[in-house]
Amino acid sequence: MFAVTNEEETDLFQFSLVTGGREQGVSTATWADIDFDLHEFLIQDRRDLDWSSKDREEGGIPIPDDFIERIQARRLRNPESRLIFPNTLGKPEGHFLRQLQNLAKREGLNCGGCVNRKGESCAGNAVCSNWGLHRFRKTFATFHHDNGVPVRTIQRWLRRSSEGGTRRRTGKVVAAELAQPTGDLDDQSLSPSLSALCSLLSSPPSPSVPRSL
Ligand SMILES: [Zn+2]
Repeated sequence: MFAVTNEEETDLFQFSLVTGGREQGVSTATWADIDFDLHEFLIQDRRDLDWSSKDREEGGIPIPDDFIERIQARRLRNPESRLIFPNTLGKPEGHFLRQLQNLAKREGLNCGGCVNRKGESCAGNAVCSNWGLHRFRKTFATFHHDNGVPVRTIQRWLRRSSEGGTRRRTGKVVAAELAQPTGDLDDQSLSPSLSALCSLLSSPPSPSVPRSL
């Protein structure tokens, strides 16, 4: 996918991929949320932007080194903005799904076989359900799970740790994993590979991932 994206699309969708964020989380992300020394995306509240991480724990999401370089270059191009992905008014941009679906249509990546609620087919419209923002989130979770990051940590990184129903949905397997300590990550899982994440994005979902992710 990233072979055909322009600079703006690459920044945006690789950011979504390496942080596992929802649209609102990505659109309200600020430069202050990136720790350029530790190569982490910090999970913190941005209450004035109507965004709460609902998270009380410390620590951030590890960001691949080569993506840090990319996002640093973006910072140099946009030294004044507070938001990483502002709209033309400097406010949170809220049309990432439309951008992604336009990109998929433009590059002929639609499956051609799905129809939305309005009866529009993805064969001729930018509506392919295979190209939702959930795809980045799911790939993010799969990648870290495959690299041995505990489910509880991934849930925190997905910013769903305190949301209602998480524990109800998790089931026994995950309940057992939740009991594991979270401090035993190896070096590999702490320094994710951008190219591995990108190639996983275009492969089918791994069957090994718990349904709770
Ligand atoms: Zn489709």
